[in-house]
Amino acid sequence: MSGEILPSYLGRQWVTGSGSGTPFVDAVTGEQLGLVSTEGLDLAKAVDHARSIGNPAIAALTFHERATILRNIGKLLLEPDVLDRLYALSAKTGATIKDSWIDIDGGAGVLLAYASKARKELPNSHVVVDGNFEPLSRDGSFGAVHIRTSKRGVAVQINAYNFPVWGMLEKFAPTFLAGLPSIVKPAPQTAFLTAAAVRVMIDSGLLPEGALQLVSGAPGDLLDHLDGQDSVAFTGSATTGALVKAHPNLIAKSVHVTTEADSVNSAVLAPSAGPKTAEFDLFVAEVVSEITTKAGQKCTAIRRAFVPEAHVDAATSALAEALAEVTVGDPANELVTMGALVDREQCDRVTESIELLKSASDVVIDSTNFVDVDGVRGAFVAPTLLRATDRFADVIHNVEAFGPVATLVPYASTNEAIELVARGNGSLVASIYGADPEETAPLALGIASHHGRVLVVDETMAAASTGHGSPLPHLTHGGPGRAGGGEELGGMRAVFSHMQRTAIQGSPASLTAITGEYISGARTTDKGHPFRLNFDQLAVGDSLTTESRVVTAEDIAHFADFTGDTFYAHMDEDAAARSPIFGGIVAHGYLVLSFAAGLFVDPPEGPVLANYGIDRLRFATPTRPGDEIHVVLTCKRKTQLDGRGYGEVAWDTQVINQNGEVAAAYDVLTMVANAPGINGAESS
Ligand code: NAP
Repeated sequence: MSGEILPSYLGRQWVTGSGSGTPFVDAVTGEQLGLVSTEGLDLAKAVDHARSIGNPAIAALTFHERATILRNIGKLLLEPDVLDRLYALSAKTGATIKDSWIDIDGGAGVLLAYASKARKELPNSHVVVDGNFEPLSRDGSFGAVHIRTSKRGVAVQINAYNFPVWGMLEKFAPTFLAGLPSIVKPAPQTAFLTAAAVRVMIDSGLLPEGALQLVSGAPGDLLDHLDGQDSVAFTGSATTGALVKAHPNLIAKSVHVTTEADSVNSAVLAPSAGPKTAEFDLFVAEVVSEITTKAGQKCTAIRRAFVPEAHVDAATSALAEALAEVTVGDPANELVTMGALVDREQCDRVTESIELLKSASDVVIDSTNFVDVDGVRGAFVAPTLLRATDRFADVIHNVEAFGPVATLVPYASTNEAIELVARGNGSLVASIYGADPEETAPLALGIASHHGRVLVVDETMAAASTGHGSPLPHLTHGGPGRAGGGEELGGMRAVFSHMQRTAIQGSPASLTAITGEYISGARTTDKGHPFRLNFDQLAVGDSLTTESRVVTAEDIAHFADFTGDTFYAHMDEDAAARSPIFGGIVAHGYLVLSFAAGLFVDPPEGPVLANYGIDRLRFATPTRPGDEIHVVLTCKRKTQLDGRGYGEVAWDTQVINQNGEVAAAYDVLTMVANAPGINGAESS
């Protein structure tokens, strides 16, 4: 038995709390592995360290530099010797190899996914411009933009025990991208695995100082030191989540709190997805997988499996048959398909929950094969399937047995299924199994209001599907009501939830200086054709006004003939005259774009390497035969792409007719070479 206290990482060092501590055990053997304690640790100092050292160090990095760090850490966590160490510890939490893969490789995957998304979706700077310029005056001299900037505080992350690595990294990644340092507080039962992952991250030297600290043990007075620049992201039971939300200092200082709480998630078999259909088999396989993966200790696990009355006997038999094949025991034994719960206390909680559920259900199966099991000290329970006898009973919809437990619930009609699912009072995820969109669409729309994520499964996507239980870094994670009232995690919305959005009002010139992006109406500079300037010479605001060109009726007829686009508005005088929009022949929008390119392109080989797209295209005024158009092209935004020898340049492009009206407005997106020798570009 180990009486050693697990260290915390605070400030610049690993430090150990004092006192008697809280024990944590090996889930398989029940052996005490150590203690957690934060007694005597100065958590106020940790908050100060994060704010004064970590925050400015991260803030000095651009979004892309932060993304590169995340990518490198993700790769490091996937190195074989690191994985070996983490998997060995993970087995002590009761996890099978597959469970560990979800937690550890899945966690590293989250870092890689965020790194990739950030490089594509965020600028290589420190400010995010959110939405378009809002003109606030007729003459365009006064307007506003919304920007997002990093806060000056720290993000405290309180995590549940079931995903010690993934749970930390899914929050750390968006927080770090947003510019905030993290203080991670894992749950005591599995903090030893989180601590091991944190040690890898700290020892790598990849992170700026103060970017990550670890509190191994009770949160103590940590939340008392937070203020309005800080945030708290909680994951755990709804009961604890409510306590955190009600923390007096968090309320008093309006600290931003998000909660990802528990959830009585559903799977729904569609009415015509009966036995012998692919979707019936997929439903059975998913319910079994959700009961057994992580021994059912997943916030997203299916707790309620809704089945049309006509198929309930078939579903009961199929699930019972599949669950009878499960082998529970020490994950080190390769026969084992389901590991242990985290500790005996959790076994007791699950047993209590099953007893509650039994008041409105019958047991279908609650025994299975056990191998290498310490029945007294190991935290093993059999997968348990119940069948509701009273489908409307509150317990069926409210009790989250956080273990390998699900209840089959018959339903009589689609509307009843929707109503029963809603009785969960808000869940993270539901999945629907059926081949007929006329059945699955009303179900999906009917339950969407109560879910953060809905997965619709049919045979065509099953092989590619990531499954019911996997939150993805691309998609919302969280849910309404009981699930915590959050939907922040997933993609850039998770990053933005940690940043401050500010409306900045002023002149186009001021707004351009603040955002670093050209806003129409700001001063422009003429340095000759900007396509002759390399990325490093080019400045936001460098502009070109082209010669003009008359668009003739022959041009329009030729373009129609050449491209095959003979839409009546370009060809048929009478029909075009009847059009409430055109009132006569107009040029193709794409002809206008093509002529615009002909006016602004600089033909010889030069720094502009490619045009990779167009954003925000609008044809504002029809172009008619005889109109004379010219183009004003202005460098709007530059995004350096690290090490590639070029960067992205967006050009504000306005096609203007002889009356000064905007015929077309859009952003041309190009790749522009760096100066020789800069950013990986070849030296001349
Ligand atoms: P928990 O008992 O609610 O604990 C969660 C975390 O809160 C732990 O780190 C715990 O650490 C801490 N905590 C407890 N009381 C606190 C307080 N007064 N102030 C601040 N922190 C406090 O949950 P768990 O047993 O670890 O995890 C299982 C639950 O989490 C399940 O209900 C599951 O559905 C849910 N979960 C949800 C998600 C999701 O994304 N929605 C993901 C995973 C798990 P201490 O014990 O040291 O205080």
